[in-house]
Amino acid sequence: MNRYSVIVDKNPREIILLRSHPCKWGRCFFCDYINDNSVNEEEMISTNKEIIKKIDGRFNSLEVINSASVFELPKQSLIDIREKCIEKGITTLYFEAYYNYRYKLGEIRDFFQGINIEFKCGIESFDHEFRNSYLNKNIIFETPQEVAQFFDNICLLVGIEGQNEKMIDRDMEIAQKYFKKACINIFVENTTPVKRDEKLVKYFKDNYSHLENMPNIEILWNNTDFGVGN
Ligand code: SF4
Repeated sequence: MNRYSVIVDKNPREIILLRSHPCKWGRCFFCDYINDNSVNEEEMISTNKEIIKKIDGRFNSLEVINSASVFELPKQSLIDIREKCIEKGITTLYFEAYYNYRYKLGEIRDFFQGINIEFKCGIESFDHEFRNSYLNKNIIFETPQEVAQFFDNICLLVGIEGQNEKMIDRDMEIAQKYFKKACINIFVENTTPVKRDEKLVKYFKDNYSHLENMPNIEILWNNTDFGVGN
């Protein structure tokens, strides 16, 4: 498992994949990366220390992901990240957080005072039924603006059986209209029963590949495109 990488082409940053406690929700139907979660805090902390050591601060910008939310990282790992940021002059940090942590984001901002923090959130789709009844995200909101109040960057999933072209059109429109940044993940089959829909992937490729030219939108055609994971 590769846990450190450097993203050079768009929004240059280092990226690390840390180990954490289990995702508090842990029930999204398509998600199997929670298998990387652990309950052995000592082991997590020492593994994370080795990964954090690799950060050299070359872009003053660091993304930290952990197959859960930033709130599930051991406190010691947060301290280690903070020390490294100070040592290497990192001025921007990106973390992931589940939507239902939205009222706690300020705690992370306080902890990393002086560093600009951006939060990513896996919304996956703005279609309420698809998101909650099928993907089982348990994320309820009325409007995209409500989400944008809390999260600068949203992750969307594309190419799943049960999704349709209209949903994709609407998601792409909302992402561009209301959010500072978006990360679009083309679904790659994993150990869950969720199936990839090749027709929808083609539809996306034909109609939305141009989004790759936008400075604020990243498309992951493969879930290892950031160079971490397996
Ligand atoms: S909130 Fe994220 S990490 Fe947790 S189960 Fe859902 S997709 Fe997986």
